[in-house]
Amino acid sequence: MAGNDYDSDGEQDIYALNRRQFLGCAGAAALLASVSLPLPAARAAEPIKFGDFEILPLTDGHLMLPARLFAPDAEEKVRAAAFAAAGHSGDQIRRPLNVTLIRKGDEQIMVDAGSGPRFTDTAGKLAEDIEAHGIDRAAITTVVFTHAHPDHIWGTTDDFEELLFPNARYLISEEEYNYWMADDIQSKLPQDRLGFATGAQRNINAIKDRLETFKPGADIVTGITALETGGHTPGHVSLEISHGNESFVVLGDALTHHVVSFEYPGWVSGNDHEAERAIKTRQKLLAKLATEKTRLIGYHLPDPGVGRAERNGSAYRFIAES
Ligand SMILES: [Zn+2]
Repeated sequence: MAGNDYDSDGEQDIYALNRRQFLGCAGAAALLASVSLPLPAARAAEPIKFGDFEILPLTDGHLMLPARLFAPDAEEKVRAAAFAAAGHSGDQIRRPLNVTLIRKGDEQIMVDAGSGPRFTDTAGKLAEDIEAHGIDRAAITTVVFTHAHPDHIWGTTDDFEELLFPNARYLISEEEYNYWMADDIQSKLPQDRLGFATGAQRNINAIKDRLETFKPGADIVTGITALETGGHTPGHVSLEISHGNESFVVLGDALTHHVVSFEYPGWVSGNDHEAERAIKTRQKLLAKLATEKTRLIGYHLPDPGVGRAERNGSAYRFIAES
């Protein structure tokens, strides 16, 4: 069962700290609200032209996560070498939060909604980045969730419980919806992740009148199809944008780490709810991405997350796009 795979201490610490920091900052935030602040600088990432689509990597900030979560069962020496190759030192590793905006004609599609104000103080920056890019949040037509983890769905509502994207339709896979909204979800999660379900339900309930579910294989809009990439969570999907014979894949969390996920796809990850299914998903997805030389963007891959997978012996490597 999924609970055995989690690093409970690390997650508990993160969650507890966030609550404290959020509450502690409330007074300071009220004080700052009366002061006029300059617009934040937009992240330097440029929009990518892909056929009729424009793909823009936005940022929601970053997370600091316990390194052990990424490879709890790996031999210590091999894990240390992998993390050194990834440029990590220390017990906590930094993971970016790359939120993708896809534009096509009048369609403006957000893939995930970021972390919002309640998860951790290093995240929840999406609204600022959108503003810095001069994008009108009210003009977003569609929000599609890859899955309902806090860093992907808790940004649906802001600190006033208002929708960040007030005019959008919302889409989530049927399997993901059923998993998080089930009456017995609390009994399926480890103790330290019960808050994940509460948060997923709070945000899903906030959009329930405009939320649609879909099955993998469905078209999100013309030219964008949901790919079944379950395992990280049961109903996790990635999005495949097609133009002629080429495709561009928005991974979500199907591949979360630029070294571990690509070079050791068979390693169990403490981030995955269904570890064995996630391994099969990674192997199948990597084979497809490498064979088809597909460009990709990953939510937690090195900022801004764009690159491709290349075969490397019996595994793969991530080639970042410069
Ligand atoms: Zn994530």
